[in-house]
Amino acid sequence: MLLLYVFEPTLLDDPHYSKRHWNFVKESISDINQELNNLNTRVLTVESEILPLFSYLLSQKKIVSIFSHQETGILKTFKRDKTFKRFCRNNSISWTESINNGVFRGRTNRANWKEDWESYMKSSQFVFNSMIFNNFIDIDEIETLENNLIKVSLQTHKSDFFQYGGRSTGVKYQKSFFNERYVNYSKHISKPNEARISCSRLSPYIAWGNISVREVFQYAKEYRKTAKNKIAIDAFTSRLRWQAHFIQKFEMECIMETESLNKGFHKLKKEISEKYQEAWRDGVTGIPFIDASMRCLSQTGYINFRMRAMLVSFFIHNLWQPWQDASKYLSKIFLDFEPGIHFPQLQMQAGETGINTIRIYNPIKNGLEHDSDAKFITKWVPELEQLPVRFRHEPNKLTNLEQKLYNFTLGVDYPKPIVNISSTRKKASDVIWNMRKDKDVIEESIRILNKHVIK
Ligand SMILES: Cc1cc2nc3c(=O)[nH]c(=O)nc-3n(C[C@H](O)[C@H](O)[C@H](O)COP(=O)(O)OP(=O)(O)OC[C@H]3O[C@@H](n4cnc5c(N)ncnc54)[C@H](O)[C@@H]3O)c2cc1C
Repeated sequence: MLLLYVFEPTLLDDPHYSKRHWNFVKESISDINQELNNLNTRVLTVESEILPLFSYLLSQKKIVSIFSHQETGILKTFKRDKTFKRFCRNNSISWTESINNGVFRGRTNRANWKEDWESYMKSSQFVFNSMIFNNFIDIDEIETLENNLIKVSLQTHKSDFFQYGGRSTGVKYQKSFFNERYVNYSKHISKPNEARISCSRLSPYIAWGNISVREVFQYAKEYRKTAKNKIAIDAFTSRLRWQAHFIQKFEMECIMETESLNKGFHKLKKEISEKYQEAWRDGVTGIPFIDASMRCLSQTGYINFRMRAMLVSFFIHNLWQPWQDASKYLSKIFLDFEPGIHFPQLQMQAGETGINTIRIYNPIKNGLEHDSDAKFITKWVPELEQLPVRFRHEPNKLTNLEQKLYNFTLGVDYPKPIVNISSTRKKASDVIWNMRKDKDVIEESIRILNKHVIK
């Protein structure tokens, strides 16, 4: 048995991915290698496209079976899988793909989906037993194979900002969440500072396969029996179901990567403003809570759910830019990029499904509510530090005299807001609500309800 990870140039160059993702993967492989030490094997880690690599391996070894998980990935990986399936068939290799986190392949609607998800989550986990599985290809042979391939160094620079990859770190996050951090889960989930501690932070470990949802689900259910705050545990486990719910949607309709699920919205055309997009990406829109959220996300790879939704809402509605542009950029900087959650969430926040409530977040109101002391803003937008708290939320409300008093010049020390929040909000809301009355949007909404809503 050979354990294999392939860094595919097609994905290394894909705009959805960036170095932070590949570093996380490298750290994860190093962690597995640690566990394999006493079995005298390790993961063969190389850079190659899949077909040339397997052609080479076939020239060296007989391959009987290949095992992987079912990947609900981007269009490129879907195409690669179809080609690889043909390759396996032509070479009489059996390829077994195991179910991943309760997402079912080949479904056409959601009949019995919830029941199936639950029964999968309750089913026993596979426990690796090194006494039974001990037929690994040894390190010497792996090195020989490697000599004719492009080796990948697993070295990364440990960063203070990003979560560290690897199962053992993921397990530590799980333990610390249930042992102490979960207590304020529901209370803090929408607060950008506090959520960093009170949410599980398991998302990159789940997205990159360090830890399975079934494992976390069973741990949570066991823990619940003696937990002080059962409501928080229930709120958490319901999100584990959302994880698969969203991925299932994407699995059944992968067009969501590039186009709105509701085809009625394809006629919505927006003019691209590079100036707006750049200001949003750089966190210099002149709206402090937006800029703080974006800068925090860029530097750490993480921001809580509500702030993700708000960043997207600002881009799509206030700046009136296409969701596809936000999607590509955010996938690159979310350490937990998971295509099946990412694309459907973006479309839902864009109001382009035709079935979900249209939500346009007011970033000032959200800032005052979820960062009332402006600690989060101050940390990420330090140029506002010398202002009183209320002006850190809205520096554009300072009079000229006040600006002099605080030694602060709007437009110099910090930008003026690039758009008017209330007028742009109204315009976006009018357009989207009007489109909801469109015949094509309504027809598509019915199709989507029939196909994707849990019965
Ligand atoms: C525009 C947008 C894009 C998003 N993109 C991603 C993404 O690429 N990858 C990703 O993992 N999450 C994504 N989310 C969902 C959510 O924001 C993150 O899962 C969550 O913030 C991760 O933090 P946590 O692990 O502490 O979550 P917790 O609140 O502790 O939740 C536990 C797990 O449940 C799942 N989960 C939580 N919230 C959601 C949700 N709303 N929808 C689906 N699953 C959920 C995640 O796997 C998460 O790790 C996105 C949300 C929005 C609004």
